[in-house]
This record gives sequence, structure tokens and C-alpha cells, in this order.
Amino acid sequence: MHAAETVWVLGDQLNRSIGALAEAEPGRTRVLMVESEAKLRSKAFHRQRLHLVLAAMRAFADELRRSGFEVDYRRAPSLSAGLEEHRRRFNPPAVRASEPASWDGLAVLRHHGVEVVRSNQFLCHYQDFARWAAGRNRLRMEDFYRWRRAETGYLMDGDQPAGGRWNFDSENRRPAPGEAVSWPQPQATGLDRSDRDLVDGLPDLAVGDAPAGTWATTRRAALARLRHVVEAVLPRFGPHQDVMLEGSWHLAHSLLSPYLNLGLLLPGEVCDAVDDAYRAGGVPIASAEGFLRQILGWREYVWGVYWLWMPGYRSANHFGAGRPLPPAFRTGQTSMRCLATTLGSVRRHAYAHHIQRLMILGNLGLLAGISPAELVEWMWASFIDGAEWVMLPNVIGMALHADGGRMATKPYAAGGAYINRMSDHCRGCRYDPKKRTGEVACPYTTLYWHFLDTNRAELARNHRMRPAVRNLERLGDMAEVRRRATEVLDRLDAGTL
Ligand code: FAD
Ligand code: SF4
Repeated sequence: MHAAETVWVLGDQLNRSIGALAEAEPGRTRVLMVESEAKLRSKAFHRQRLHLVLAAMRAFADELRRSGFEVDYRRAPSLSAGLEEHRRRFNPPAVRASEPASWDGLAVLRHHGVEVVRSNQFLCHYQDFARWAAGRNRLRMEDFYRWRRAETGYLMDGDQPAGGRWNFDSENRRPAPGEAVSWPQPQATGLDRSDRDLVDGLPDLAVGDAPAGTWATTRRAALARLRHVVEAVLPRFGPHQDVMLEGSWHLAHSLLSPYLNLGLLLPGEVCDAVDDAYRAGGVPIASAEGFLRQILGWREYVWGVYWLWMPGYRSANHFGAGRPLPPAFRTGQTSMRCLATTLGSVRRHAYAHHIQRLMILGNLGLLAGISPAELVEWMWASFIDGAEWVMLPNVIGMALHADGGRMATKPYAAGGAYINRMSDHCRGCRYDPKKRTGEVACPYTTLYWHFLDTNRAELARNHRMRPAVRNLERLGDMAEVRRRATEVLDRLDAGTL
């Protein structure tokens, strides 16, 4: 085996079909995998996230060994140090790797002379995305998605969209249901001794509850999760996608993002499963289309814009927001019920669903002027599916409008009225979503008007924000709103809100 070339598999490329591994053969290829101490200690990561990544890497190394590969699996001070140690030990004639998911990862590989194999971890390579984007004034997700539908044939009948429409969003935006609804229960896997040892050895910096088996750590278990989602969740996906309820942390969301992001599942096999389930008659078109839109549309779009706009995108800060991350994000202590519920879900499961991320956490960041870099850093460390490529467009572009509107045509700013309509949080909260001034005024409502007031001139130029700015002109109590906003922001900073 001494003349064997090396394929270096990164921690989010855990699949035999990905890039450099797809062509590799046991006997001719040695696999390198590195656990980097520097990466593990680079942030206050959630325990469940660290457990998932490390357990999945170790399980994948075992899977490769069972298929006949020699695997050099090592813990090293950094990725670079791991590669150097490997080269010294085996002196491989060449080291190859699949294109990494991050800008910095690519720079490290190039710096070390690693041969980079084109990524097939997404259905649309970012260079193809860049070709699609070239010459367009606006990169509308909807246009991208329709192009991808036509290219891939998913949910297409010939050249027409299945069900006669491209978009069933109007059926997928229902408010919080008045009656009790039961939601599909996520699958769980038992943990064993090696899981417990792994968790015991995590850095002291790690935060959040210990793993409880929610997150699958092998490809086999991830495939079982996908089957479960197709049978139990997909038929329910859509109508209540934007709802937030205290009785369920997952509702009818799939919880598949960590597997897709680590390579345990490939987007093509998820889209195949959705298309098959729809054609078999078990799933309404609005649900199948709504779900496909997330995977084939949003996820791939976000990947494309990350590569298109890096590295400058990382430091975008259109509103010049500089507020440090409020203490509540770390302690979970706040009397704002919607925020406390979302932070509780993050602590317990390393998860918040999309609308909690956008309209509770991101919206607060936008309204309170929290530093984009600090919010990115916290979400990246806290979420089970965190990664820079998906975080930046979602946080900088969608949630904080910190890119000045390159991605979203208007800021997703909302007061308590929106949260009240879409959730059951407000009825048990000490604040009143309808009030913008006074001691029980909802902080979201106060800060919403304050945000419009502060950015009035700019927002008035945006035709989608103009009606909101016109409403602002009609308020007679702006001086009191400003006073209350100062109080709210002071208390947010002090951790007493
Ligand atoms: P579902 O609701 O079941 O959706 C299905 C799948 O669609 C997801 O698994 C995901 O792969 C994909 N998807 C849907 N929306 C998006 C999107 N906007 N961007 C990318 N993929 C999408 N997603 C991450 O994977 N990692 C993150 O760190 C992350 N951070 C986010 C931060 C903010 C502020 C916002 C607004 C969104 C973020 N998202 C992130 C996108 C999205 O919220 C999550 O992918 C989704 O909540 C994961 O849960 P799920 O698998 O149950 O999703
Ligand atoms: Fe959240 Fe305001 Fe509703 Fe309280 S009243 S739950 S702070 S939106």
C-alpha cells in the first residue's frame, strides 16, 4: 500500500458517492480523516452538534474500513497539522479531496497542494449557478427554482409543473391552528457506551443539553430518517410551515438538514423520494412542491449565492449594526415567551425551525441592531446543522438584511402582531403584542416601530416597505415609542428583558 494515493475526507463529506471518494478503490487509495482540535475549540459549540459530527466521522471511517479501505483517522492540533503528519508517515504520491463546502476550507486545501475534485454534493454546482446568475439584475429564488425544476424534471409533467402550478405557497402559509393538532414524532436512536465516552471527552467550552438520540450519526440511520419523513411528515408538510407552537419543537418539519449538510444524505436522493411519493399518490401536491422548493430551491440557491458573493459577504453590515449578542442568547433567561421557547429548543435539541430562526431570532437581531458577525457566530455554534455556507445567506441576507437587499427584496421586520398570529406564545407572555409603549409593551412591537423610524428615509425608497413607513407617519406617540425602545434595548443588553 505504500504507493497508494490519499483521499482526504472532510467531516461534512461522509458519503462514498461524493467527489474524490466516488472513484476511489480500496487497495489503491488510503483515506485520511482528521479531527481538528482547533476546530472543536473554535466556538462554544452545542454538545449535540459536536457529538453528531464526531460520531458520524468515526462511523464513516468504520464503514470505509469494512469496505476494504485503509483509513488513517487521526486527532491533530489542526487540519493542516493532520495532513502534515499523514504526509510524513505515508509519503503519498498525491493527496486528493472533494471540493469543501467553505471558502476557508478551499483555501487550506490549495495552500497545501491538495488536488481538488469538483463537488457533486449539490445538484447545481456553484459554477453553474454563477452562469445562471450572470447578467441578471436580481437573483430571484423563484426563477432559480423553476429553472432547476425544468432541468431536473422533479415534479414535472413534460415541460409543465405537476399540479399545473409552480408554486403552492398560498396554501402553505396558514396561521396557528386554534385547535390542538398532533404532530409526527421524530425517530430516535439509542446511544451506546462509545457515544457517552465521546460526550465525556468534549471540550469544556461546549454548551447545551447532551445528546438524547434525536440525531442519527450513520448513513443507514439517516436513510431510515428519510423514509420516516416521506411516510409520516411529508404528507403534512406545508400548511403549518410558518407556525410556532409551544407543544411541539418540530411540528411538521423534516429535521433532515444535518444529514444533508454532512453528506449522510444527498439532495438528489431526497428529491427522488419526494417525487416518487407524490407520483405514488400518497402526498398532496402542495406538500410535495413545498418540500421540494426547500431542497431543490432554497438550499441550492443559498449554496450558489454563498460562493458567488464570498469573501466580501462575510463582513456585510448594511445597517452598521454593532450591538453585542444579548446575554439571553447564552443564558436562555428572558421573559419574552417566544424568545425563551426558541432558545429552550436550541438548548434541548440544538434546533429551531425555520420561522423561529427567521422571525424570532433573526428578527430580534434586525430590530435591535445586533452585530451580524456575532449572530452568525452564535447560530453556527448552536445549531445542529450549522455551516458557514448556509448561515451567511440566511443570516446576513434573509434575516438581517445586512447585504442591503442583494438577496431579499425587503427586510423581514415584524412586530408582535405577526408573532401573535403565527404562534401561541403571546397568550402566556407578560408582554402585550398590541402595545408599543408602557411597561407591558411587547419588545418586538416597540422595536419594530423604532426600526422603521430609525431607517425611515431608506425604507421609504423600498416599494414593499412604503406602506409600513406610511403607517409610521400616522403614529402620534413616536416620542414615547423612542423612550420605551431605549429602555427595551438597555434591558436586552443587561439581560433583564
Ligand atoms: P424543513 O423545514 O424540513 O426543510 C427541509 C429542508 O430544506 C431543510 O432540511 C434544509 O435542508 C432545506 N432548507 C429549507 N430552507 C432553507 C434555507 N433557507 N437555506 C438552506 N436550506 C434550507 N439551515 C441549515 O442547514 N443550517 C443553518 O445553520 C441554518 N441557519 C439558518 C439561520 C437563519 C437565520 C435562517 C432564517 C435559516 C437558517 N437555515 C439553516 C435554513 C433553515 O431554517 C433550516 O435548513 C431548517 O430550519 C432545518 O430544519 P429542517 O430540516 O427541519 O427543515
Ligand atoms: Fe413574544 Fe411579544 Fe408575544 Fe411576548 S408578546 S410572546 S415578546 S411577540
